[in-house]
Amino acid sequence: MNAINMEHHWLPFTNNRMFREEPQIFARAEGVRYWTPEGQEIMDAASGLFCCPAGHARREIADAIHAQVMELDYTTHFQRAAPNSFRLATRLAELLPAGLNRIFFGSSGSEAVDSAMKICLAYHRARGQGQRTRFVSRNWAYHGVNLGGTSLAGMVNNRRDFSGATSDVVHMRHTWSDEQRFSLGQPETGADLADDLEEICKTYGAETIAGVFVEPIAGSVGVILPPQGYLQRLRAIADKYGLLLIFDEVITGFGRTGSAFAAQEFGVTPDLMTMAKALTNGTVPMSAVAVRTDIQQTVIDAAEGDRPELFHGYTYSAHPVACAAALASLDIYRDHGLFERAKALSPVFLDALHSLRNLPHVFDIRGYGMMGAVQLTPGAKPGMKGSLVQRLLFREGLHLKATGDALIIAPAFVTGEDDLARMIEILRRVLGRADL
Ligand code: PMP
Repeated sequence: MNAINMEHHWLPFTNNRMFREEPQIFARAEGVRYWTPEGQEIMDAASGLFCCPAGHARREIADAIHAQVMELDYTTHFQRAAPNSFRLATRLAELLPAGLNRIFFGSSGSEAVDSAMKICLAYHRARGQGQRTRFVSRNWAYHGVNLGGTSLAGMVNNRRDFSGATSDVVHMRHTWSDEQRFSLGQPETGADLADDLEEICKTYGAETIAGVFVEPIAGSVGVILPPQGYLQRLRAIADKYGLLLIFDEVITGFGRTGSAFAAQEFGVTPDLMTMAKALTNGTVPMSAVAVRTDIQQTVIDAAEGDRPELFHGYTYSAHPVACAAALASLDIYRDHGLFERAKALSPVFLDALHSLRNLPHVFDIRGYGMMGAVQLTPGAKPGMKGSLVQRLLFREGLHLKATGDALIIAPAFVTGEDDLARMIEILRRVLGRADL
């Protein structure tokens, strides 16, 4: 550890003072395990951060990245593109719900969210409804940390210190309620919470609203499921008032729910969808926005002369190396049936998670597919117990993320049942401690 100079790197989403006191560094990863520089094994119960469903160090992806760097390492835009970006867009269109088949690329989930917001604005403007500039999202939502996503955020910490910079977003209520504690599957009641959207349309004037963003399963706050019929009702209200419905599937995409996307799992097709993380199995930063065909066409048709119809993009949009990593990842998911594997492993995973319910610090357990959360009883201050448990788990050899007092667990789909049992045992041991 002495060999690492910690003076200069400002770590994101980290208390840097605490980090220097107890650095938790991953030096190597393979399969569902990390290792520290000292060689301690840490089991990965979070797929990194929902990123690596096929496990770490996949040779097929490494080979594809290497080959792509040697063949074509970078291209720019401005009427230029690389061949594999078209192949990737085609593959994604095949995986996505019918109708969502124009793909715009970025490098992070946050970029995808802000791109989706701009596409919504461009679409309304192209139809002569440029006054639709407001967005709706939900309390407890996480939509990335760029300024658009920070405005959409319903998690207070995301917005608290940046209020002067955020734009006009109205929030619906979240869908968690106490009666859902320890239940399995989608809550039977609560679909009427979608009527918040109708109220907002009436209060603010639907003609001022561009779109409504939701995570089909709210991930970062600790896995909150949509009540049965809730997403359908949002879809109907959005249609009634001419709003675009955007699903942020940065976490739920690529098999996490057992289907390719949560849109298919829950049978509701949005107008736009964001995705990232597992798109490249976490190897190379990449994200995408999938857009309904006619939305793109409307924006294209409104363009004048040779001006780009959407004056938006990133230096690394559709980066050829990221495209190669994504294509190799999608091959692995298909060839190894990993979405089906996620569906098959899910009951085993959720059962194991629910076996923790009688431990002293456990307030709630939630889950769906291969994503779950253990909500702890609050400690002296909100979030303190979660952060302590995350630290203790690392010492005991388990990686997961605490968000507030919720522990988020999202193992790779390739996790063996024996490894899954080991992960749960470490959790049981730490949660059983009296000194939390
Ligand atoms: N949207 C959702 C639903 C997310 O969960 C996240 C990240 N956890 C993001 C957007 C932002 O992604 P990124 O961190 O890659 O910018």
